[in-house]
Amino acid sequence: MKKTIYLDHAATTPVSRSVLEAMLPYFSDCAGNASAVYGAGREARKAVEKARKQAADAIGAEPREILFTSGGSESDNLALKGTAFALKDRGRHLITSAIEHPAVLNTCRWLEKQGFDVTYIQPDSKGMISPDKVRDAVRNDTILISVMAANNEIGTIEPVADIGAIAHEKGILFHTDAVQAVGSIPVNVNEWNADLLSISAHKFYGPKGTGVLFIRRGTRIDNLIHGGEQERGLRAGTENVAGIAGLGRAIEEATAHLEENAKKNAYLRDRLLHGILDHIPDVKLNGPEAGRLPNNCSICFDRIDGEALLLRLDLAGIAASSGSACTAGSQEISHVLRAVGLTEKEARGSLRLTTGADNTEEEIDESIRILSEIVEDLRLMYHG
Ligand SMILES: *Cc1c(COP(=O)(O)O)cnc(C)c1O
Repeated sequence: MKKTIYLDHAATTPVSRSVLEAMLPYFSDCAGNASAVYGAGREARKAVEKARKQAADAIGAEPREILFTSGGSESDNLALKGTAFALKDRGRHLITSAIEHPAVLNTCRWLEKQGFDVTYIQPDSKGMISPDKVRDAVRNDTILISVMAANNEIGTIEPVADIGAIAHEKGILFHTDAVQAVGSIPVNVNEWNADLLSISAHKFYGPKGTGVLFIRRGTRIDNLIHGGEQERGLRAGTENVAGIAGLGRAIEEATAHLEENAKKNAYLRDRLLHGILDHIPDVKLNGPEAGRLPNNCSICFDRIDGEALLLRLDLAGIAASSGSACTAGSQEISHVLRAVGLTEKEARGSLRLTTGADNTEEEIDESIRILSEIVEDLRLMYHG
């Protein structure tokens, strides 16, 4: 197979060499159950607790505030359902945004069916959620505000510190889905006033199927998975020790090299974006020019069908995404692109390119060249 140019790092990233090395012992040599008293079990327990400290240090938390999960989706589910059910006698109203990941949005829709009431804050045309709108939505029975730290489709970085401050001023819990933020921008649970914060390892060169929910000490939350006493009784099931060890190494590295990685990604992203804007007519950037994730380039092409574009890019060896990986394959247009005011046609002509550690300048230049050719070609055949 021809080497692909991978420009879909917001969908997932490969496990880095050093992360893989941190994981390997826990598949074989130290494969004990972390709850066991014998040597291999104690080694596994040590690995889990080391990762807990690494995750805590990366976000300004304490180790006991770190709960390991199976990824971003589970963390979001637990944050929302867990607090909703724990606090349902105090109130049944939640506030979120219209541009959250489906792991939050569909959980909210489900909670609505269980008798909860949810307000969905609309973003401005750049994807920004206004703290004032959040403040205005607060009611006496509001128990949770959940707004993502950065949007996975158009890269908008949200004013979560301000939103968290409003939540705290009103005595309401604040959750943020920081899955796209970790490894891209500084994440600090105290600066953001976060009570709950979701993380997923595979978005920063860690393994898939491993995540964290930060739960601030003293936060009331019900568990979703009942069984053994793992994770202080909040999340039953034998620990995914290798995955957890990988997450620990990955988050430590992502945090230690945050600035240089962000700089490199932004350089490549800007080169890509300007190359596209300079060489292809009738294109437009989705999301803000400043205040966006360093690796995110979301573009809308006039007179282009995004699905056709993706297929042609794939044939040419470029891996990208339309809107979001979670909507790919469905006929629905992206809820995020719709919320920021794109027409259905514009949304259908959108492409998300996200840079990462493995990309080179040559790959970017090659991508601009290939993309220009394909867009020109597809436009000749476009019938609206
Ligand atoms: C990828 C992603 C998720 C889901 O994480 P998984 O680990 O794949 O379940 C949730 N929220 C955002 C913003 C994401 O980008």
